[in-house]
Amino acid sequence: MEITEIEVDGYEKVVRCRDQKSGLHALIAVHDTTLGPALGGLRMLPYASEDEALFDVLRLSKGMTYKSAVAETGLGGGKSVIIGDPKRKSEDMFLAMGKFVNSLEGKYITAEDMNIGIADLEVVRKETKWVTGLSREMGSSGNPSPYTALGCLYGIRAVLEELDGKADFKDKRILIQGVGAVGGRLAELLKERGAQVIICDINQARVDELVKKHGFESVSDAGHASLPCDVYAPCARGAGLNDETIPMLRCRAVAGAANNQLLEPRHGRDLKARKILYAPDYVINAGGIINVSIEMLPGGYDEKKALAKLENVYTNLKKVFEIARKDNITTNEAAARLAELRIAAGKKKA
Ligand code: NAD
Repeated sequence: MEITEIEVDGYEKVVRCRDQKSGLHALIAVHDTTLGPALGGLRMLPYASEDEALFDVLRLSKGMTYKSAVAETGLGGGKSVIIGDPKRKSEDMFLAMGKFVNSLEGKYITAEDMNIGIADLEVVRKETKWVTGLSREMGSSGNPSPYTALGCLYGIRAVLEELDGKADFKDKRILIQGVGAVGGRLAELLKERGAQVIICDINQARVDELVKKHGFESVSDAGHASLPCDVYAPCARGAGLNDETIPMLRCRAVAGAANNQLLEPRHGRDLKARKILYAPDYVINAGGIINVSIEMLPGGYDEKKALAKLENVYTNLKKVFEIARKDNITTNEAAARLAELRIAAGKKKA
């Protein structure tokens, strides 16, 4: 196994692993550990080149620094990628990945991400203790989705307060795109609070199941963004807020769990110009990372502590909206400012 360092400006440590025996070709990026060890998931994709993988892991690890700084998880930002076809996984590959993660001695902590499941991480765990998000039976924090959904609900509470001065879910029309693990649970939570939930998903069987069970309204995915509603909650894929969709929107706010909702940061300005309040994705979808971060506390995972800390999503969004209002900037700029302030405060303390 050969581990080599890649010098990248602005990143604490970036390392490459090539292991001939297992065929592992992977990268780990530790962006910043000012606020704690760098936690971020492991993904596996058939990147066309190492440069493409490097671009992805750098971008994602920096994003994790900002997300954790705002959520106050006591963690820094990191990420790892395996360059390869997810259909050609092997036990040896994940054992080698475990050794690679272990070589950073806890500076980087891994978790699930695209194309990586709990079974893969259980193999990684054989070689390193720096793994999170395993099953409850293993003393870990388990599936993060219900916590992400609950965090989103708290976030929407902050959004309604910003829009109307009070958080009244009753009869608010909330459109959810993507009713999978997070969006489906969010739909239920909103309905319990009296909201009028409209769902859409490209998986018609899933829509039918939820409509039958809860009586939600549904719309087809094509053109769904032009439906009039109070809150539009993207919970499917990223990049849904772009030049094409923003002019179509007829909502008062966008607040959902999907990652990287803005195709480009300038789309935050387009939303502001249309007077649509945007809840920055990494602030409102932090419930999952907050839940995982509880594993790091002395005494290990405790659901009660996780549930209490989920309130951070609400208070942090309130802060983001306040900064945006005061400084007349977009909410995505305000979220970055809040993260940078917290990292700077951490640097002063160190
Ligand atoms: P999921 O795969 O369980 O659900 C996604 C749903 O979106 C599926 O039902 C799918 O059919 C639907 N979908 C996909 N493309 C669509 C499209 N173009 N139009 C309409 N529906 C579409 O995923 P999830 O775990 O619920 O995550 C949803 C989003 O939230 C993702 O962007 C994810 O990165 C983000 N996120 C999830 C978590 C978590 O804890 N699971 C945490 C943070 C962020």
